[in-house]
Amino acid sequence: MITIKDILTQGTNRLKRLGSTETPYLDALLLMGHTLNMSKERLIAAMNDNIWEIDAIEFGKTIEQRIKGIPVAYIIHRKEFYGLDFYVDSRVLIPRPDTEVLVETALGLTGDTGDLDLLDLCTGSGCIGISILHELRHRKYRGTCRLSLADISDEALTVSALNARTILGSEPTLIRSDLFSSIPESYDLITTNPPYLTDAQSDHPQLRARREPDLALRSGSDGLDHIRKIITDAYAHLHTGGFLIIEGGFDQGPRIRDLLTAGGYTRVTIVQDLAGHDRVVYGMRA
Ligand code: GLN
Repeated sequence: MITIKDILTQGTNRLKRLGSTETPYLDALLLMGHTLNMSKERLIAAMNDNIWEIDAIEFGKTIEQRIKGIPVAYIIHRKEFYGLDFYVDSRVLIPRPDTEVLVETALGLTGDTGDLDLLDLCTGSGCIGISILHELRHRKYRGTCRLSLADISDEALTVSALNARTILGSEPTLIRSDLFSSIPESYDLITTNPPYLTDAQSDHPQLRARREPDLALRSGSDGLDHIRKIITDAYAHLHTGGFLIIEGGFDQGPRIRDLLTAGGYTRVTIVQDLAGHDRVVYGMRA
């Protein structure tokens, strides 16, 4: 008799030996839950049940994918972000916990009333804009909040539209645009997690093995090609009193702050993520 636990232990041990993951047990648990279509809680309660051979084989295949470096989120097609469940696949970057501080910052700069036009630029999975709107609705925002999601990639927009439908139950405005080139309107809040890795960081083999879109990561020799352009172009797309909120690399905070200041923004502020790294920088159009 072979139990779920036996096969899970086998998978965990294979990941420990051959995978480059720091969380072999958790990865195996998520992959088993996916294979058996069970929540983590149900799975833990079912550990001593028998496993069907066909499920053991399927689970083995997911472990082999993980050993090749493919992230769990791409194998199970989901990633939790800001307490919400996002669909993901290799058309979009996988949401990072660090980015939750961008959502928090945006919510902190938002009141609870009035009309709010929000643009999430380089939206990818849509996680930033969708989480902000979801939270505003949850807080019973008194006013109308309009959400636009923009990305250069049609494929990414397909994923963000899907997430908006499932999580918000509504379709935001979707704009295919290379940064601001096809965006006509102005906004009260522009959030963005653009590509910000240096060429050298983007070429790192461990990152390449994750199969995330290069388009979402690489931004020139100092990693600031996109951010420089965004800071210049966003100004004309902000209402007076509107904020531009940018995620950048842990060592880019002071440079982004200086670019915002040089660009005429006021109230320029750097915000740290939970690990204490500079992660988000914002400024206001006065
Ligand atoms: N934080 C991401 C990483 O470290 C990069 C995200 C981005 O370039 N926008 O892989």
